[in-house]
Amino acid sequence: KELAKELGLSTWREITTLSVTRDTRGRGNAQKTNQYARWIGGEGAGEAADVTLMDTETAQVTPSEVTLALIKGAVENGAQLIEGVTVTAILTNEEQEGEAADHPRVSGVVLEDGRRIEADKVIVAMGPWSTKVQDWLNIRIPMTGIYSTSLMYTAENSPEAKEMIMKEPRALFCSEDNYGSHLEVYPRSNGDVYICGCGGSRYVTEEELRNYEPSPGREVADSSRATAAYQSFNSLAPSITQGRLPDVTQACMRPCPPDALPMIGHLPGVEGAYIAAGHNCWGILWGPVTGKIMSELVLDGRSSIDLKHFDPKRFGGRMSTPVGRARGRHRGEQQVGEQW
Ligand SMILES: Cc1cc2nc3c(=O)[nH]c(=O)nc-3n(C[C@H](O)[C@H](O)[C@H](O)COP(=O)(O)OP(=O)(O)OC[C@H]3O[C@@H](n4cnc5c(N)ncnc54)[C@H](O)[C@@H]3O)c2cc1C
Repeated sequence: KELAKELGLSTWREITTLSVTRDTRGRGNAQKTNQYARWIGGEGAGEAADVTLMDTETAQVTPSEVTLALIKGAVENGAQLIEGVTVTAILTNEEQEGEAADHPRVSGVVLEDGRRIEADKVIVAMGPWSTKVQDWLNIRIPMTGIYSTSLMYTAENSPEAKEMIMKEPRALFCSEDNYGSHLEVYPRSNGDVYICGCGGSRYVTEEELRNYEPSPGREVADSSRATAAYQSFNSLAPSITQGRLPDVTQACMRPCPPDALPMIGHLPGVEGAYIAAGHNCWGILWGPVTGKIMSELVLDGRSSIDLKHFDPKRFGGRMSTPVGRARGRHRGEQQVGEQW
């Protein structure tokens, strides 16, 4: 709430959240209405749903707005934003001093266009792809990418739905339904309706992620899950869909370490290397908190909260032999010799 005020976020609000139990046995009154939102059930609904109140002050923000506002704030305070190129390696003094470097420390990064940026501190915040750094620094960074489809009905294309949503803004957490979905429905403050929980998420392995499969920003929706989720939502809230397919079908990946806790802190064994990744389904909520912690670590050398549960060292730290790769030193994907 404080941050939303400080950043002047227009999409932040408190919204009433409802728990929706779907009738998976085809019984009950499909037209059943409820006291919280007239757009749930009603005429044309395919199945009954029991609706109960979960919470009246769930915080909501549109992720792109908070992300862009934080980037803007950083740039206004002197950060430089480089877009459209990936980092392909983190450099250390081992590049110059060889394996004999007894005190490994970060010296910069290499970009895919060949540019090098010098740095004595590097924070890895590459979401699921952070596991890539295992190849670069020989530090164990296990991660699964949970690849999920989501849908959106835009206010622009559904003026009638927008009116209903604006009158009765309610977020829904639905139980498992007959379509294999467990929908989460988030009407946004501009009248868009975002829907996830489409079911059938794919678990992308760390090996796939280390090969950039799928590469960042190239995730595509699973059409069978999009169809199932549409059918489910259409049977729950036909006055919103009005029989129309969603305006947007998309996919994204949640970064998930094996114990489902984020990795926040120093990367063990290489001075100046840090990680802030693996926030699973809570990265929007945690992002600003983790950012603050990272600034404390980098600027003050210690964090104001105890990070022991998030210590990246819990996965084993520096490895003598990279997992699943040929022995030898690498710069990005390229082998640079010095076999040992
Ligand atoms: C359907 C769905 C619903 C969700 N709902 C919620 C919710 O309600 N609340 C909540 O708090 N969280 C939610 N989340 C989770 C949240 O979106 C994630 O936890 C969060 O986006 C993770 O942020 P991140 O910055 O760590 O990773 P990402 O958002 O994945 O960002 C990683 C960035 O690193 C970049 N990158 C990767 N490799 C490189 C490289 N080599 N060089 C340079 N850049 C690179 C990528 O392009 C990307 O921009 C949801 C996620 C999904 C999929």
